[in-house]
Amino acid sequence: MLDCSNTRYGTCPCGGRYTERSVTINMTSSGRDVVLPDVPQARCPVCGSSVYLLAHLELIEAVFHARTVEPRD
Ligand SMILES: [Zn+2]
Repeated sequence: MLDCSNTRYGTCPCGGRYTERSVTINMTSSGRDVVLPDVPQARCPVCGSSVYLLAHLELIEAVFHARTVEPRD
């Protein structure tokens, strides 16, 4: 039987089945603290590796590379 809840993350190279959970990502971008709550993340219970959906990786990168537009003097 195909478990659709896991297929979107693919299968871990170690053969484990990813389990999805929500995590809060804290990072610093352009000197500011940025918090992304409730980001879906899949974690392999066998080897402990974590993966994100491509869309969320792009979101994380977009935030990380965002430039704050503030006047300098
Ligand atoms: Zn694994």
